[in-house]
Amino acid sequence: MRYEIMKLQKIFLILILISVSVSCTSEGQSETPPIQVTAGLHSHIEHLTYTIAMSDTSNNERITRSEEEWKELLSSSEYRVLRNKGTEMPWVNEYNSLYDEGVYVCKGCGQPLYSSETKYNSRSGWPSYWAPIDEAAVEEREDNSMFMTRTEIICSRCESHLGHVFDDGPEPTGLRYCMNSAALHFLPKDNDES
Ligand SMILES: [Zn+2]
Repeated sequence: MRYEIMKLQKIFLILILISVSVSCTSEGQSETPPIQVTAGLHSHIEHLTYTIAMSDTSNNERITRSEEEWKELLSSSEYRVLRNKGTEMPWVNEYNSLYDEGVYVCKGCGQPLYSSETKYNSRSGWPSYWAPIDEAAVEEREDNSMFMTRTEIICSRCESHLGHVFDDGPEPTGLRYCMNSAALHFLPKDNDES
C-alpha cells in the first residue's frame, strides 16, 4: 500500500513538471513575435522616402496578419479605420487640407496609393483624389452598411479599409476617392534626400 502511494506521488510530480515546462514554452512563444513585428512595420513606414516608395509600386504580394498582430502594429484610431472599417471625423483629420507635392502610402503596409497630383478639394472634409496612383493599388468591395450601398476601397496589398469611392468627382475620371487620413501616410517629394 505504501509503495502504491509513493508510486502515485512520483507520477503526480512528473505531471506537474511537464505542465510547467509546456506553459513556459507557450508563454514565451506568444510574447516575442508581436514585438518584433511592431518594430518592423513602424520602422518600415518611418524610413520610407518618396523615391523608395515610388520604386515599389509593382509589388502585388499579399500581406496577411492576424488580428492580434494588427492590434500590436497600429494605434487604436488606426486600427478602428483600417481593420474595423471606421470613418474618422471630417475636417479635423490630418490630410484634408494638405496639398504639398508627394505620395500617400498605406499606413498598414507602405504601398503607394495616391499621388498629390490627383488630390483635389472636394469640400467633403476628407482627403479626396480623382484616381489611385495605379489601378492595381486598390480594390473595390460592395459595402451595404449604414443603411446604404457604397463602394468600399481597400489596399490591394494588405486588404486594409481606406475609404469609399463615389461618382461625383471631377474630370477626367468623374470619381471621388474619399479616404481616411488615418489610413494614409504622406511622403513629401521635397524632403526626399535620395
Ligand atoms: Zn496596405
